[in-house]
Amino acid sequence: MITNLLNFDLEGLAVFCDKLGEKRFRATQLFRWIHQRGAGEFSEMSDLAKSLRQKLSQCACISPLPVISEHQSSDGTIKWLFDVGAGNAVETVFIPEDGRGTLCISSQAGCAVGCRFCSTGHQGFSRNLSTSEILAQLWFAEHTLRARSGAQDRVISNVVMMGMGEPLQNYAAILPALHVMLDDHGYGLSRRRVTVSTSGIVPMIDRLALDCPVALAVSLHAPTDFLRNDLVPLNKKYPLIELMDACIRYLKYAPRDFITFEYCMLDEVNDQPEHAKALIDLIKSKENSNTWCKFNLIPFNPFPASGLQRSLDSNIIAFAKLLTDAGIVTTVRKTRGDDIDAACGQLAGEVQDRTGVIERMKKRRTIMISPEK
Ligand code: SF4
Repeated sequence: MITNLLNFDLEGLAVFCDKLGEKRFRATQLFRWIHQRGAGEFSEMSDLAKSLRQKLSQCACISPLPVISEHQSSDGTIKWLFDVGAGNAVETVFIPEDGRGTLCISSQAGCAVGCRFCSTGHQGFSRNLSTSEILAQLWFAEHTLRARSGAQDRVISNVVMMGMGEPLQNYAAILPALHVMLDDHGYGLSRRRVTVSTSGIVPMIDRLALDCPVALAVSLHAPTDFLRNDLVPLNKKYPLIELMDACIRYLKYAPRDFITFEYCMLDEVNDQPEHAKALIDLIKSKENSNTWCKFNLIPFNPFPASGLQRSLDSNIIAFAKLLTDAGIVTTVRKTRGDDIDAACGQLAGEVQDRTGVIERMKKRRTIMISPEK
């Protein structure tokens, strides 16, 4: 069997090397070649003994994901579509900004959570990505962009797990991937510069706090259970009171002293002054302070199947002002990559709906349109 070494964090690679009869420092050398120098062939690894290189070539590989397409936006944003087999594709987006480069990576082919405003959620769920498929996105983007620009230093300064999928529903695969991102022999990113975004899987937020407390973003999108049950169906399992408590617990471990709440602005659905006031009450009910969280308001990118519209700019500004006036740090996300459908909530890829999410969403829509049925 040929083992893809992109599947391992440094500990895993050390175990693999041990089984080959190789010392731990060989694993570190190998790890650095793969992640720091982007080597894709063992023959490139000039400081490894020839006998080891030969051994590795018989039982291991460094196997990237096939690229289906690449699109570059007029604002510099790049979107790749990767083939993950069996008719499934996932998307990865690079967002360049002054002084930093952020890579948004996918953790699943599709998503089972089925948020109403999300393109990925509307496609259904096919399967979890493996650690190697998650890391291959970073490995490819970092070393491709570095080669193109001629840069010696890293190009990607921040990673956000906000692409396709709910990362905390694929915990076993994301944990080693996070280790590689943080490892000084890997990508060497600080915990503040790696963000896991979740729709609110409470027990896994607690697990992440203990195992690998990187920055946490929570897709909130509604101030009440009634509305959130509809927009983010997972809320029925983990209601707001439990989610807020989990966020407060996470703060003790977080690399920053705040949690980021993502809030997609949907016209006349969640963008009215009463929604802002309810949000302020929700935030103030915790910690006797307004400073434990920040809000990122995201103008919705409409797609036909959602039946939703983007909030008016004036409503977004008014909503942000209400939160800010209440002492809550609030930003409005600049939409990036609109012209290549790389903006938030537009990552669609192509997946096989093996869990019937599309059918369930259709039923929800029927119920919403015709409550009497
Ligand atoms: S917003 Fe995130 S959790 Fe919700 S359906 Fe989309 S990918 Fe899944």
